[in-house]
Amino acid sequence: MHQLQQVTVLGATGSIGSSTLDVISRHPERYQVFALTAHARIGELQTLCLRFRPRFAVVADAAQAQRLQSDLRNAGLATEVLAGPQGLCEVAAHPDVDAVMAAIVGAAGLESAMAAVQAGKKILLANKEALVMSGALFMHAVREHGAQLLPIDSEHNAIFQCLPCNYADGLAPVGVRRILLTASGGPFRNSSYAELERVTPAQACAHPNWSMGQKISVDSATMMNKGLELIEACWLFAARPEQVEVVIHPQSVIHSLVDYVDGSMLAQLGNPDMRTPIAHAMAWPERISSGVAPLDLCALARMDFVAPDLERFSCLRLAIEAAQAGASAPIVLNAANEIAVQAFLHGRIRFTQIPQLIEDVLNMQQASSVQSLEQVVEVDLRARQYANTWLTKQSGSIGIGL
Ligand code: NAD
Ligand code: MG
Repeated sequence: MHQLQQVTVLGATGSIGSSTLDVISRHPERYQVFALTAHARIGELQTLCLRFRPRFAVVADAAQAQRLQSDLRNAGLATEVLAGPQGLCEVAAHPDVDAVMAAIVGAAGLESAMAAVQAGKKILLANKEALVMSGALFMHAVREHGAQLLPIDSEHNAIFQCLPCNYADGLAPVGVRRILLTASGGPFRNSSYAELERVTPAQACAHPNWSMGQKISVDSATMMNKGLELIEACWLFAARPEQVEVVIHPQSVIHSLVDYVDGSMLAQLGNPDMRTPIAHAMAWPERISSGVAPLDLCALARMDFVAPDLERFSCLRLAIEAAQAGASAPIVLNAANEIAVQAFLHGRIRFTQIPQLIEDVLNMQQASSVQSLEQVVEVDLRARQYANTWLTKQSGSIGIGL
């Protein structure tokens, strides 16, 4: 018999949110949905509430909350609907919650993920931006509040599975030489720079191996995703940036590797389906079924590996540089990237202008030390202002027609 765990799913209507609910629905004797949250697509949230009957639902604002509350009442549900960032923090830190899936996209997910950490929860972290922005503070809070942090990002979950359990003080003491972070290379792995200039949002969102939300799809296409993951890996596994190496592996079957000093290399393999890392983290240290088919090695037949091209994919270079610079640089990188991705998705800038915007914003300010969450938010906001000014100037001077 297992004790029933109460789970909050932050970002329930997203790609990770729905994979999480799929895993939960396979194990009703283990998991119960405590709270579901969404920012848009409230109709979808309502459908999920009817199916999982959570104690709480959280939406963006009071007007939405009122509407959903009355719809749920009319359907005979006792679910209580909350609103805004405060509602997110409340369901992340509620005393009756055992585990929190942090699957909101972008900086918007930081505060609620931190609330779960500060309440000492088991935290299943998909929201990599939270660690990129506030890694030192986040990891310190995990230790201080006795939270249990389990990585959901497939690469980090793979690394976690391949590392010994006592890596918290650094990789060298446990005989690890380096971490190899695999990357699919995205849809434009073989595209020339001239081709990259003409990429449309629809092309950028069509990932060859993974089905994901829009922002991470564009990040995968620019390879900023791998850069954010490199920073994420440094915090999660107490690694220095030079101990993490990116390798392009187009089949996305090896999810990452750990290289030991004795020449052993351990890898985690599987079909590219996020339900595997989600099920692993949810049940850890046990194993449960996830609905993912076993990997057929003979059908796969081959695996390829190649070094990344930091010139064509300069977002990856910028992220490596920000990881090395540390302090406020990763916050600026992340904020500028979020603005650039939105601008690209709205047709305001070309695909190849994404790294240009980020680099210019990074160059506009000196890296400064960051000691508190308030400072993180300050640096983030300032970088967004610089990025928006950059966009205004650009559209004034060239007027792109995409
Ligand atoms: P998505 O866009 O599909 O879903 C995002 C969720 O966040 C939605 O439920 C949305 O309503 C909510 N949300 C968006 N903005 C919000 C805001 N301002 N306030 C509150 N909620 C908000 O994204 P996704 O692909 O599921 O990714 C979620 C996170 O997981 C990202 O940080 C991403 O990098 C990470 N991740 C995703 C995958 C994947 O396969 N999709 C893999 C690894 C890591
Ligand atoms: Mg990943």
